[in-house]
Amino acid sequence: MAETSTQTRTRRTAKLTAGRLYQNRWMLAAAILAVLAVRLFGGASGGFTAATIVALVLVALIAPRTPAARRMAEASARVERSPLDRLSGEKLAAAVAEPLIIFGRDGTVVHANEAAETAFGAIRPPLPVLLKFRAPEMQALIEAVLGGEGTAQTADYVERVPFERVYRVTASAVGRGTGLFVLAFKDQSEARRIDRMRADFIANASHELRTPLASIAGFVETLRGPARNDPNARDQFLQIMQNQTGRMARLIDDLLSLSRLEMKPYLKPGVRVDLRQTVEAVIDSLAPLAAGTGVVIERDFAEGPLEVHGDRDELFQVFQNLLENACKYGQSGGRVVMSMRRSTEGGEPEIEVTVRDFGPGIPDEHIPRVTERFYRVDVETSRAHKGTGLGLSIVKHILTRHGARLSIRSKLGEGSAFTVHFPVA
Ligand code: ADP
Repeated sequence: MAETSTQTRTRRTAKLTAGRLYQNRWMLAAAILAVLAVRLFGGASGGFTAATIVALVLVALIAPRTPAARRMAEASARVERSPLDRLSGEKLAAAVAEPLIIFGRDGTVVHANEAAETAFGAIRPPLPVLLKFRAPEMQALIEAVLGGEGTAQTADYVERVPFERVYRVTASAVGRGTGLFVLAFKDQSEARRIDRMRADFIANASHELRTPLASIAGFVETLRGPARNDPNARDQFLQIMQNQTGRMARLIDDLLSLSRLEMKPYLKPGVRVDLRQTVEAVIDSLAPLAAGTGVVIERDFAEGPLEVHGDRDELFQVFQNLLENACKYGQSGGRVVMSMRRSTEGGEPEIEVTVRDFGPGIPDEHIPRVTERFYRVDVETSRAHKGTGLGLSIVKHILTRHGARLSIRSKLGEGSAFTVHFPVA
């Protein structure tokens, strides 16, 4: 329960009284002994003795403090001072994870924390800050804070060595009249990178939608104009328009899938999924595509249960994307092998599901990038196969949610193998 102010006051007075008595304890003890001795040997009355002892206690309470007592009291007050008062600027700067530089009114460095030295190299007193940061925006910032009575100023600063980083820098005075100023750096590089990625993504998605839309608009115009009375052209154009709307619909479906996955990236999927059953269902669903591309799908499944914890629909989508790609891009190989096995090769026990095709393969330099959104090795081939460029990034998102990973091996002219590694709990 919270203490009332009266209770607090009473507690403080009691502490003070006890403190005073303790400080004067030897003097008090000697005096009381003397009084008792007078009573014992001198025959003083009980009333007199008691009154004398009470008087002595009162004297002990109001007696002025000796220098030693004062020193003791001051020392204990120091101990009781708030931890914040005892904190040195250096310690405070060291506790800040971002770069921090303290400088004086003459513009020379007083202290730089470890993060600042890691980010900008050695910054030792009395180095002039203007010499360390020569970029015009930093010079203007430092001069403004020195000349403007310490009002906080901010600027964006790009450090290019050893690699590019963007900082939002705030320059301000440390308290009033200390003659000290501080430069606080906030690394904005990651936020900028995410902004750029988002802008690129929107530009790519708009471009992907705009192309079929422009084609549909063009055909509508032709159908209303020159081809108005041409039944052959009309049928042909309507077919193209239907294909283009299909392309837009696929793109929107993939964009929605990605956005749904991004909204719940850490949701732990829970039910047991039988991988054998799921992969069989995927093979069945793609039988028409395999037949259409002349690809034979072979199975190579290990014996025994092959189960993982996860979301069956999402895992279905993973194998569907991988098998569809193998049938489309590896068509020339004429066959695709779906294999499943248990492995401990990576150290930890895993279940590996591999989709292997015998097509043209993927050049090495493209392999690390094929899971990026809208990245295609060859845009025209992808479009011809109704690709959106989002399939593998959806696969990657789903696998991350499942604590699984994708590895890609490929050899030009021999085909590609996409392997999903599931940890076995
Ligand atoms: P898309 O919708 O274009 O198929 P994906 O994200 O599924 O998009 O794949 C990205 C790109 O990776 C494809 O455009 C293709 O160039 C390449 N790719 C994917 N799978 C294979 C494969 N089995 N063989 C060769 N290239 C492939």
